[in-house]
Amino acid sequence: MPEGHTIHRLARRHHELLAGDKVTVASPQGRFETGAALLSGTVLRDTEAYGKHLLHHYENDLVLHVHLGLYGKFTDGAGEPPPPVGEVRMRVASDAYWLDLRGPTACEVLDPPRAQTLRDRLGADPLRDDTDPDPAYARIRRGSTGLATLLLDQSVVAGTGLIFVTEVLFRAGLAPTTPGHRLTRPAWEAIWSDLRELMGTAVGTGVIDTVRPAHLPEAMGRPPRVDRHGGEVYVYRRAGLPCHVCGTEIRRGTLGGRNSYWCPTCQPVG
Ligand SMILES: [Zn+2]
Repeated sequence: MPEGHTIHRLARRHHELLAGDKVTVASPQGRFETGAALLSGTVLRDTEAYGKHLLHHYENDLVLHVHLGLYGKFTDGAGEPPPPVGEVRMRVASDAYWLDLRGPTACEVLDPPRAQTLRDRLGADPLRDDTDPDPAYARIRRGSTGLATLLLDQSVVAGTGLIFVTEVLFRAGLAPTTPGHRLTRPAWEAIWSDLRELMGTAVGTGVIDTVRPAHLPEAMGRPPRVDRHGGEVYVYRRAGLPCHVCGTEIRRGTLGGRNSYWCPTCQPVG
């Protein structure tokens, strides 16, 4: 599933292409016909990403809400849109650009109160400057749930997925199973600022890179990572391989129904 940086990139991209323009909205596939009719012919005023949720704000105060889920994908282009290919749930087009959405988990129109309800159930998004991380820390400290499970819970931190969470815990030297109530405030502040930095970089590059300069392939004289996720990481999907820092074999386990990766030496159980 795309992590938050991908959604923030899409919000920026859609803003560049379409914000301020009157657009037509259609559902070639038919499943979003009613929603599309509420938006079509109005101005797309602004775009916004909140965690893994993408919002398009229209001048009539209605909000398009998209969650890509596992299979959702946007494509876009300039000029006349091509004939729709496959299951195009939504097509948005101005005089100059178009974008198509296929396979999302959610594609719906929200009125302002329902958009607020959506925001209210999301936790702190490290990529938003208006986010207050204190409520997230309060939730984390409340019990004995493991840190990996807490940081993946979108009502605690919004936008983080498995890659950012496993990597940030490695960088913090904390085992994924560390109980939330053991997390000190300085450790939380370090995790939060690390998430902001790593995710912010990924918004710019589109790739998740979490490895410090000393552990890059060139610095270590090792071959670069080969994986469809692209970037250089310490533990994510590296089970059985040696840790870049200490050489210990990276472990994989299941935590709260999700895979988890960690180095037992660099991340001792606290
Ligand atoms: Zn290690």
